[in-house]
Amino acid sequence: RTTDAQELMQLTKNYGANNYHPLPIVIAKAEGVWVEDTEGKRYMDMLSAYSAVNQGHRHPKIINALIEQAQKVTLTSRAFHNDQLGLWYEKVAALTGKEMILPMNTGAEAVETAFKAARRWGYDVKGIIDDQAEIIVCSGNFHGRTMTAVSLSSEAEYRRGFGPMLPGIKIIPYGDLEALKTAITPSTAAFLLEPIQGEAGIIIPPEGYLKAAAELCKQENVLFIADEIQVGLGRTGKPFACDWEGVTPDLYILGKALGGGVFPISCVAGDREILSVFNPGSHGSTFGGNPLACAVSIAALEVLEEEDLAGRSLRLGTHLLKELQKLTSPTIKEIRGKGLFVGIELNKAARPYCEKLKELGVLCKETHDTVIRIAPPLIITEEELEWAFDKLKQVLQ
Ligand code: PLP
Repeated sequence: RTTDAQELMQLTKNYGANNYHPLPIVIAKAEGVWVEDTEGKRYMDMLSAYSAVNQGHRHPKIINALIEQAQKVTLTSRAFHNDQLGLWYEKVAALTGKEMILPMNTGAEAVETAFKAARRWGYDVKGIIDDQAEIIVCSGNFHGRTMTAVSLSSEAEYRRGFGPMLPGIKIIPYGDLEALKTAITPSTAAFLLEPIQGEAGIIIPPEGYLKAAAELCKQENVLFIADEIQVGLGRTGKPFACDWEGVTPDLYILGKALGGGVFPISCVAGDREILSVFNPGSHGSTFGGNPLACAVSIAALEVLEEEDLAGRSLRLGTHLLKELQKLTSPTIKEIRGKGLFVGIELNKAARPYCEKLKELGVLCKETHDTVIRIAPPLIITEEELEWAFDKLKQVLQ
């Protein structure tokens, strides 16, 4: 079988649906913050699979959990109990402070789950008239690629050719409390948002917004749902991005690093009053809550705690942000971030800069055309970050 990068990329081109535009590098190995292409050239991973690899590539503890569990049982379906699910529930409940957890596999499925929970809660608990429930979301959001998620989106290309969209969705500007006040009606079941928008280009809402929005939702009996799939689990320097304003959402949506970049697992966490709207037959997933994912996820969450990756993200990210903000370049429009989640907004296309960085051994991916997202695995050392900063400086100045 070929290991030639050109041939491998050609195979992808020949047979793969054309729904991605990857940088021309074929990764064959990875460890920690480093990945290696088919010719053995090393690169530092500054994307972390969109924050799914917060714990670093192939963290030994997580890989051990995977191997050990794979030798016992991998899938039972939820038709039977398995001996890992309860332990994982307990772990996620402790982490989130919530009473109930509902496991799925991918982020989009967890968003789907929160959306269904909110609607059913709206009818069964709040008393909204049948089929009238509304969910409010923010422009620029990214909640995944299912029909629900694209119905929530304000991006034309995410929606084009996929209509009709789901009804009952209101899109308001991100960070605008007045718009939220105006949008809420007696039929509003929930307000769903990313506490920091990732795909939109690391957009941080005005200070105080999350707190005020959560309070408003409480007053109005509207669920406040935080999509922490990308910004949760230590990424922004706190366990959850909502922690920056001391906000506890009614529902957390988690994914990505919940499986340590090793195995897909996602979930919704909330209190009994909300998640008990589900009964047998109302929702599920063949792979959701499988013992392999649960064992991996328990290890992934233990790594976050044992290595204080949120604290590390805060310390190193704050330093990086300060250093980056000292750079003077006519190309840089703005540099913003929290923890090791930094956006460098340029006043021109970011892709050529990502390509140059790749030549220097740093892997980044542009988001929303003009933003370079810096999101290394949180286990990155000071020296490794310094090395990457040096390359960024070379390319930006
Ligand atoms: N929500 C947010 C905030 C995300 O960043 C993503 C993925 O980038 C998703 C949802 C969708 O997750 P998945 O790609 O696992 O379906």
